[in-house]
Amino acid sequence: RNLIEPPKIHRLEESVVNRIAAGEVIQRPVSAVKELVENSLDASSTSINIVIKDGGLKLIQVSDDGHGIRYEDLPILCERHTTSKLSVYEDLQNIKSMGFRGEALASMTYVAHVTVTTITGGQLHGYRVSYRDGVMEHEPKACAAVKGTQIMIENLFYNMTARRKTLQNSADDYAKIVDLICRFAVHHINVSFSCRKHGAARTDVHTVATSSRIDAIKSIYGVSVSRDLIEVTASANDPTCLVFNMHGYISNSNYSAKKMTMVLFINDRLVECTALKRAIEVVYAATLPKASKPFVYMSIILPPEHVDVNVHPTKREVSLLNQERIVETVQTTIESQLRCSNSSRAFLPQS
Ligand code: ADP
Ligand code: MG
Repeated sequence: RNLIEPPKIHRLEESVVNRIAAGEVIQRPVSAVKELVENSLDASSTSINIVIKDGGLKLIQVSDDGHGIRYEDLPILCERHTTSKLSVYEDLQNIKSMGFRGEALASMTYVAHVTVTTITGGQLHGYRVSYRDGVMEHEPKACAAVKGTQIMIENLFYNMTARRKTLQNSADDYAKIVDLICRFAVHHINVSFSCRKHGAARTDVHTVATSSRIDAIKSIYGVSVSRDLIEVTASANDPTCLVFNMHGYISNSNYSAKKMTMVLFINDRLVECTALKRAIEVVYAATLPKASKPFVYMSIILPPEHVDVNVHPTKREVSLLNQERIVETVQTTIESQLRCSNSSRAFLPQS
């Protein structure tokens, strides 16, 4: 009989552990942009500007006008598990901020070069400092700065050969970033966003703060989308089983696209929910004569304790209490609202 020696188990070096974890949080350039924009939103910014070079591999720069970062906090800013948003585990149940685990900036320093420039209210100058592998490369340097924070991510995945190669061959990372900013801009209509390629004078997304969702959709997705929308709402308020509130805009039968656009926010978090998306697709396929793919913007508010935000490394998905019933309720509601608009349309004079 052949006796196999068991391999010896050893402890991984911390730098290896950190880089592996970072590779999960930051999967592509767009995941870094999402984390940075969410940080800017968490910092109460009203203006967020993004510059991208080489699909984000060379440079991702996010500038905001938020509350900035304290000088004393700069030394631990990019360490893993350092955050201003969560203190005890129980806070997670009620968390309003998008961040909570202090992983994003740290992750970026393990797979890229990170430079932070920031100024807090009432200061005469700001500070700039660069980070590698969680730590400052030098003391923060005083510098001129406008309100808020600017974060620069350079040479993303410089130390992950395989990841870099795959991404270099894919041409659509910039498009993914633009798509992401459009989604944020449709929901956060009180914030102005811009996104452009490094060196380009023209922006590919540019919004100004507005109080009208329809205006925001018009400026982001165009008049061809915004003129063909119907407002939808649904809610349930039965504390024993289902509490939720949905508000959104969905395209009517005049609108037809090759691909479905679904912009979904749950408790102000940009997330994906395959079950809900499918359910809406089914309604459109069944209700509209031609199988046109819809545009859907939807915001769902649930009691925070019904949403588990900590189920996915990129926070792309959340898990909902009563998900099936929510999906069902939303589905039946928009089905009737869509039918309604469809039949009232039939009586409109043809022009
Ligand atoms: P998290 O968002 O989970 O707290 P991050 O690594 O994304 O973790 O950020 C760490 C901390 O750095 C945040 O808690 C916040 O205090 C601060 N921070 C990050 N980005 C910004 C920003 N743009 N403006 C102000 N503070 C920021
Ligand atoms: Mg964060």
